[in-house]
Amino acid sequence: AYTEKNTYTRNELVGIAGKVRDPADLSDVKDATVIIRIFDAENKMVDSTSLTSDEYGVFTYVYTIPPDAVLGDWRIEIEASKEGYTSATQVLSMKVIGLYIQVMREIYERSFRDPHIEPFDVTIKVTRISSGATEEYTTGSDGTIPLAEIFGDGQRVEEGSYIVRIIPPENNNPEWVRKWGTTHIVPYTGSGETHAPRFEVRVSLSLTGETILEIDRSFNVILRDSSGAFIYDNIRRGSNKIQLVNKPLEIRLRTIDSWENYLRNTIYFYLQSARVTQTPIIERVAYGTQTSYGHGGEGVVYGEFRPDINTILFELDASKFFSFDELYGLAVSSTLNTFIHEFGHQVKENILCDPGANLGGEHWGDHLPCSNVELAYDEGFANLFPILVTDWSPMLHKYVTWHRYDSSKYKGVCPEGKTGNYIEGRIAGLLLNLYGIADPNSGVSRADVLHDFIEASRVFQRMVGHPPRSIDQFIIIKHFLDPNILDSIREICSRDNYDIQLSFLDPLRGVMRVNPSDAMAFIVPANIRISFTQPVGGYEYSELNSREFVSVTTLLPGDSFISLAPGYDAKIYIRGYSAASSYMDWTVIEMKGHENKVGKLIYLGGGRMFVGEGTTIHLSHIGGRFIETIETPNTIITLHSEVVICVEDNETTIVENFRGLVNVNTDSDNLELYTGYKTSVEGDEIGEPQRIGSEEIWWEENLTKPEIVRCILTKDLDNLIEVRNFREGENGYIVLNLINVEYGDNVTWRIDDETPLQRIIQERNNATVVVELDTSTRGEHKVEIYLNGELKEEIDYSVSSEEYLTNVMKAVIIAVLVLVLVTTLSYLLRGRGGTTKYPPPPPPPTNQLEHRISHGQMRTEKFTSLLT
Ligand SMILES: [Zn+2]
Repeated sequence: AYTEKNTYTRNELVGIAGKVRDPADLSDVKDATVIIRIFDAENKMVDSTSLTSDEYGVFTYVYTIPPDAVLGDWRIEIEASKEGYTSATQVLSMKVIGLYIQVMREIYERSFRDPHIEPFDVTIKVTRISSGATEEYTTGSDGTIPLAEIFGDGQRVEEGSYIVRIIPPENNNPEWVRKWGTTHIVPYTGSGETHAPRFEVRVSLSLTGETILEIDRSFNVILRDSSGAFIYDNIRRGSNKIQLVNKPLEIRLRTIDSWENYLRNTIYFYLQSARVTQTPIIERVAYGTQTSYGHGGEGVVYGEFRPDINTILFELDASKFFSFDELYGLAVSSTLNTFIHEFGHQVKENILCDPGANLGGEHWGDHLPCSNVELAYDEGFANLFPILVTDWSPMLHKYVTWHRYDSSKYKGVCPEGKTGNYIEGRIAGLLLNLYGIADPNSGVSRADVLHDFIEASRVFQRMVGHPPRSIDQFIIIKHFLDPNILDSIREICSRDNYDIQLSFLDPLRGVMRVNPSDAMAFIVPANIRISFTQPVGGYEYSELNSREFVSVTTLLPGDSFISLAPGYDAKIYIRGYSAASSYMDWTVIEMKGHENKVGKLIYLGGGRMFVGEGTTIHLSHIGGRFIETIETPNTIITLHSEVVICVEDNETTIVENFRGLVNVNTDSDNLELYTGYKTSVEGDEIGEPQRIGSEEIWWEENLTKPEIVRCILTKDLDNLIEVRNFREGENGYIVLNLINVEYGDNVTWRIDDETPLQRIIQERNNATVVVELDTSTRGEHKVEIYLNGELKEEIDYSVSSEEYLTNVMKAVIIAVLVLVLVTTLSYLLRGRGGTTKYPPPPPPPTNQLEHRISHGQMRTEKFTSLLT
């Protein structure tokens, strides 16, 4: 015979079951008489019953432990008999413990989704409210104390109202105190014992002897309610009262280090579900940044990031920071939002690294203008991030509420006279609306939102050389990727809504054409004019000069792209308007005009382009093949991959086919065709195609020019496969082809002991880093290359010619790209060949954001040099 468990409380049912068998052959004995006697802890028989076994020899019995049962070790005796035979007496033991209070701690380890729970060795102080008398208890090895002990005489519970304080041991270890700013190990609402985790409970007994516990007020304890769920919030009078009838009082405490791990883990798993980068980066974001608490004092600064020590400092000590208290508590305040906001900055810096972004200046409040649009955009994303994480988390959103940037102070024309592009809260509001998550309950996957944000930013980075730096740039790429969002974007950005100005809709700066067409163009900063055949919207405007900014527009037949001046290059990405939104589905065209000519390219509609006289284009595809036909004054070329087409002044067309099938149709004899690939020719006058030779790849860097520098490699580098130097005009460069690199690796270089410059690798396995040399000073120079802080390479070079003396360029990195395809490298250096003059890339900042403040009445941002 057996009972289903060993420990029972009063009023519980004890199920007893067994089977009677013949000791000779172990066969079932039916109709045996079974006697069950139950003895309490004082050895008094409290029950005796007689049963008959069924046809399988089985018997069952249910005993109810009475409400006044004696606590302690009980015993059950069982005997069976039949036809004069009687079995030996079997004895079962059980323990009646009565109701109890149990205190457990939740321990979160890093990278683990669920906590483990273990008994918490604490002092419990119970104050009887009517008398003020306080008694002290300690939990046993299983974390329990019988309720009859703390609310009664040890045998039975007495009615009354009590305040129960749970006081864990303190940690005086100096390292603990330095990190957490407190000796407490759990959230406290203040410093003394009175501020320990606590609750008020009214204990009463029903007429039938049931023990009723009513808890209507609690601070920083996680209580189990009558349904068995743990409540991760304070119990407040009049709202979420807990009533337990004959149930143990089960309590959990989450220590402050577990609290922090819990938040870091939530961020870690969120980033993992967003599929945005690989594990080392996610680990770096979630766990790589240190935190330190208790740096309060003057001001109302809640959190600031210090890059020099890679630490986020929080004003509150951790026991208050993680408190549910109504002053500081998670439920009503913003400490948790602040925590995740600061990690939002880490996400952007690690996944969308952009050393060139201008994050300087001050910001004073999320509804007030920042000093520049790039800072506002950075803060806008950091404001969005906690909303994504808490919405996503099945636990956090239940007790963290944060507004969603939808109140009137974020809408309409800003009293300070700045557009929403300068206001972080409006940018967060726009993103919430753009992604359909303004409503906390919307079904949109929060993981997909971050995924899309980062993918779109990466596309922009690939095309322009850096991630979007303003909300305007972000909307430009979103519009290019998905033209269908335009109507909702215009609504969200309208003057009486978030009042965000979109440059491509600006009649003075933009294109002003938003009606659907069959093609869209994304124009990269270059020296290009776009001439529109059919200006729309009643504006006279018909030309766009994209010298300084990125833009996007729909294309109509007849629209033309014209180089600003002879010999200047242009770059345009074209995709079909109606094509399903895709991140890799467009045609890339680089164009250059010949000497004394401006390049000219006309969109003919239907995926056809016309190349004008005195123009050379290089055309390639990423993904789809939207532009399939190129016309020149004398030839029609149908192509499938990558070609260079040059239309000479004399109307001779030169076609160089780099890969894939090209069909050339012409009646003219002024056609020269070079190919190493399958090419078909229609037209009587054309001879056999000539084999493609070593043509100058003008859209890539030119390796044939004389070196300005002579490099001597002094060390091997297992992460470097090639170091070569080349000149471009007056500038010198070193190209580092890196292997075995990971996302987030840090390449630093220093020339002649000057301030080092760095680049965070955004690629995996292979990456190319281009170091621009200081060629302004004649003589010997030294470049040191570091990977993740370790010196990997020293390169000596000398500037040998006076022609470089006037060049005052400091070392800048111009691009980092995956070296997957040879053609990829062409994007890296495109525009630096020939006479092209793109605007130089901005120098990387020598300053790094030091001081980030999330939610305070006053915000300031301070900067300090990362590297000094
Ligand atoms: Zn911030």
